[in-house]
Amino acid sequence: MDLNINKFSKICRTCLIEKVNMRPIFDAYVADMLMECANVQVVENDGLPKTICLQCLQQVNRRFCKSSSGKKGDCW
Ligand SMILES: [Zn+2]
Repeated sequence: MDLNINKFSKICRTCLIEKVNMRPIFDAYVADMLMECANVQVVENDGLPKTICLQCLQQVNRRFCKSSSGKKGDCW
């Protein structure tokens, strides 16, 4: 891969598409939600994108709200 850091930071971790509106994964509960819903390991400094696009964030958030019956109230 010949992606430089600047470009990498604009790519969504989940859909791998370059978007304009990105949110940091390691903010709030995004990383936790990803690990719980998508069954992926999200580790800071693993060299993968640290951002997620708003569309994916909404999807993950929706799935998280449905799947985690014991954690209601964490949804935003
Ligand atoms: Zn995405």
